[in-house]
Amino acid sequence: MCRTICLIPGDGIGPEVTEATKEILAAAGAELDWLELPAGAGAIEKHGEVLPQKTIEAIEHHRLALKGPLTTPIGSGFSSINVRLRKIFDLYAAVRPIRSLRGVKTRYDDVELVVIRENTEGLYSGLEHEVVPGVVESIKVATKMGCERIARYAFQYARERGRKKVTVMHKANIMKLSDGLFISSAKKVHGEIGQGIEYEEMIIDNGCMQLVRDPSRFDMLLLENLYGDILSDLGAGLVGGLGVVPGANIGDDCAIFEAVHGSAPDIAGKNVANPLALTMSAVMMLNHIGQTAAGERIKNAYNAVLADGNPAEVTRDIGGRAGTKEFTKAMVRRMK
Ligand code: NAD
Repeated sequence: MCRTICLIPGDGIGPEVTEATKEILAAAGAELDWLELPAGAGAIEKHGEVLPQKTIEAIEHHRLALKGPLTTPIGSGFSSINVRLRKIFDLYAAVRPIRSLRGVKTRYDDVELVVIRENTEGLYSGLEHEVVPGVVESIKVATKMGCERIARYAFQYARERGRKKVTVMHKANIMKLSDGLFISSAKKVHGEIGQGIEYEEMIIDNGCMQLVRDPSRFDMLLLENLYGDILSDLGAGLVGGLGVVPGANIGDDCAIFEAVHGSAPDIAGKNVANPLALTMSAVMMLNHIGQTAAGERIKNAYNAVLADGNPAEVTRDIGGRAGTKEFTKAMVRRMK
């Protein structure tokens, strides 16, 4: 069945990598209708706002989107559109598989992690204010409902995919209430539905050290919002960088797929960006909507290109000298 996908090309490298991904999906025979929608810094000029109403309404209707990265100004300016989208559609679970890829040289070759990040609470609640001049407060929100539902999502995911262990990283020694609620909820849900899955808690600073020393001792990481954000990039660094880590933002009846990386203004418009992270996110989307055969074809294609290790076929972030377009063509060729 042909599905309509809301496509937000986004800012910076977004248009380049979304174009590449569309080409790869078409070559794989994915049955999709694209509905291109504006959002991001680039939407201000044309539409007068960073998140136009028509974009919200289209996602509300189709409940499925593939999104390029969106720029968020630092220290001032408009609030994150990514955070707003996740809140509007209650996309409470960010799922980020972090895997070693044959042909991508890194320190480790056996990383097989999934980060499950709580996507709607924590320090991303946008509750910041100035108490008196020179004193500001940023409020970290944790609710029993939010903590339990992300834990439930993680253990269900582990059960469905035969994962062995869930490690909850936290700082409940310092944030006894908020992180305390996160771990007590995880423990409770593990008791309810986590039979056969090992449960582990770890203070996050130690967790970061353990991760970079030996990532193979971890299987799934369950993290609140900020820790999940940071550890996703740390994890990306273990497997070849942000060019190879996909993601999905999942709610009960809506999902937005996007790479972990941002708009990468340093390389935007230069035919340098690695399109694989968004392509892998699109594969997650194809699996989500049951178009698994097309997803498999794409997976085989990029695995073949990477394993062949021809520098003229892969982008420079993973050791090649190809541009976005050349890498895309190489993947498309493997599907012919
Ligand atoms: P970034 O992820 O854009 O870039 C970090 C580094 O990784 C840069 O050196 C960049 O060149 C490189 N990189 C990222 N994606 C790559 C790719 N596909 N191929 C090759 N190299 C790649 O992070 P940043 O520089 O901290 O943030 C830039 C902007 O992106 C900010 O405005 C930030 O708010 C935004 N951002 C958006 C999202 C999102 O839309 N989900 C996520 C993260 C950051």
